[in-house]
Amino acid sequence: MTAVLIEGKPIAEEIRKELRERITFLKTRGIVPGLAVILVGEDAASQTYVRMKGRASEELGMYSQTIFKPQDLTEAGLLQLIDELNADPRIHGILVQLPLPPQIDERKVLVRIDQRKDVDAFHPVNVGKILIGDRTGFMPATPYGIQELLIRSGHAPSGKHVVILGRSNIVGKPLAAMLMQKNERANATVTVCHSRTENLAEITRTADILISAMGAEAAFVTADMVKPGAIVIDVGSNRVPDATLPRGYRLLGDVDFDSVRMKAAAITPVPGGVGPMTIVMLMHNTVKAAEMMLERQAP
Ligand code: NAP
Repeated sequence: MTAVLIEGKPIAEEIRKELRERITFLKTRGIVPGLAVILVGEDAASQTYVRMKGRASEELGMYSQTIFKPQDLTEAGLLQLIDELNADPRIHGILVQLPLPPQIDERKVLVRIDQRKDVDAFHPVNVGKILIGDRTGFMPATPYGIQELLIRSGHAPSGKHVVILGRSNIVGKPLAAMLMQKNERANATVTVCHSRTENLAEITRTADILISAMGAEAAFVTADMVKPGAIVIDVGSNRVPDATLPRGYRLLGDVDFDSVRMKAAAITPVPGGVGPMTIVMLMHNTVKAAEMMLERQAP
């Protein structure tokens, strides 16, 4: 068997098309969805990510503010900036690029963002809403993108055994909470594995849908860990030295793509699988935040 490729780009484009229609409607009501992205410090990879987010907003005709602050910004300075953005009617979504420098307490920052503008879904209220299945909050972009990827590629998780490798607050935990919900987009039986899991391969071999979000080692998930006919989603992004490339490294997933694709029914590539979905779901959350503001304004 050679697995079908689940490519993120065409599915992300389909979602962008839907978003353009929603943005056009919002504009007829005088609202241009606005996203503010804050980066503290000069980390090169983070600078690339925030610029990509700004560009993606502008390409959809949204309002975008990318705010660069120096590495020595105080916690009070960042909290004040967040207060200003919370009060700014042009801004519907606020995102603080993580990690933050050590003088700033990440938890204080994440709870300061107005939960109605928390498009990253890191505010405890939104995290709680995910767990109880309250859809009035936001869902974090990467897990949300994975859920859309599964559904739109014809591999809905309902009734399936989903095994997730990784229990981070950004990917593994919210994804598990989302896919176990009692609703038509979820209804999965979910197992979450991590670095202390015993007999990992025995568990992964029981997965109808195997989702790897570890980033610990390229090609960690080998064909013997995969059930024949499984759906494999590779979230991992591992830098592997490669002197033939100008940047000196290649990005590889957690999954040994060449061997696993001979056993799985469908598989995402890295890059080009989950990555394009993450950014479009952030745009989706910003549009949703603007729509929620419109609803609040309705007489
Ligand atoms: P993280 O916070 O470092 O979490 C990694 C998780 O993997 C942890 O729960 C860890 O277990 C688990 N793990 C590590 N080694 C393991 C092993 N040998 N066996 C089983 N579990 C193991 O990472 P993250 O932020 O969730 O990101 C995960 C990966 O996804 C990274 O490569 C990241 O770059 C990538 N990512 C990609 C996108 C995208 O848009 N494409 C978005 C987000 C993240 P413990 O909890 O026990 O330590």
